Amino acid sequence: MSCQNHERKRIYQVWPGKISLFLSIYWSEVDLSLLFCVQKFLCGGRLVFGPDASSLLLTTCMIGGPSITFCIRIAFLIGDHRHLFHSLILIPAILLTIMDLTFLFLTSTRDPGIIPRNKEALSEVGNTKLPRTKDIMVNGFTVKVKFCDTCKLYRPPRASHCSICNNCVQRFDHHCPWVGQCIALRNYPFFVCFLSCSTLLCIYVLAFSVVSMLEVRGQFYVLIADDLILGVLALYCFVSVWFVGGLTVFHFYLICTNQTTCENFRYHYDKKENPYRKGVLKNFEELFLAKIPPPLVNFRDWAQEEEEDVELGSIASEVVRAFGSPRHGNEQ
Ligand SMILES: [Zn+2]
Ligand SMILES: [Zn+2]
Repeated sequence: MSCQNHERKRIYQVWPGKISLFLSIYWSEVDLSLLFCVQKFLCGGRLVFGPDASSLLLTTCMIGGPSITFCIRIAFLIGDHRHLFHSLILIPAILLTIMDLTFLFLTSTRDPGIIPRNKEALSEVGNTKLPRTKDIMVNGFTVKVKFCDTCKLYRPPRASHCSICNNCVQRFDHHCPWVGQCIALRNYPFFVCFLSCSTLLCIYVLAFSVVSMLEVRGQFYVLIADDLILGVLALYCFVSVWFVGGLTVFHFYLICTNQTTCENFRYHYDKKENPYRKGVLKNFEELFLAKIPPPLVNFRDWAQEEEEDVELGSIASEVVRAFGSPRHGNEQ
């Protein structure tokens, strides 16, 4: 396969996730789910999104819509009724909304800790059988690390291969469909802040919708009918707070015990020793005060001349392994 376009390209432009166009032309029988394994990049590779980044728009509307409606409704009440009381309600609501959307954006646009694929092993090892697992020592505990067939590497401890992004990711927690991104080493603190802000915002809007309806109307049973906007907002937040609040509590439990969602479901560390547990305070310190490690991939670096060919070759070999050769059918 020869590369016809010799224009220099950056790594994000030849990243293996970007396979949809290539495959849809080259491979007519490919599983459609593969076509969505496309990492999205904006601002010349500075912003890294997951393949399902479009859900970020929905989440933004689900948070921004009710919050802005609440702020506008309260702003109208400032003119009509108790000026100071409603002004005091409005300011934290605006701040919480801005913080919540900022944390959502930071979680969604950051490289979560993508581990670059092992290109040398791709060309050199070929079909040589490597042991599936390897034992390594972590804090005095033996930890099994698995070989990833797609990335052609032994995953570092706590890393996992995200089936949606099609990458191995460091300290993988889970892939969040609401954020449209992996939640992992480099965006987990922002994700926890986002969840906490969302819970606070829900409680805040719920509480002050009810309080201001009571303040203004005085009688609870005519509230919903009289102030439909605040009534609907209170109901919306009452339903949402169980979901968002539950997730926040769960993640605080995970931080206290230094586990990822993935480990919690897979290993049940409660029943056996967790090699990463350091005590509640140290666990929080590690998450929120330690410097976030730099990314392993600089998507803005220039790709090497042959990189594009290697990537396309590797994708083709992956597809052959998964679906069989286009002419001879599945050989496995
Ligand atoms: Zn992998
Ligand atoms: Zn993912």
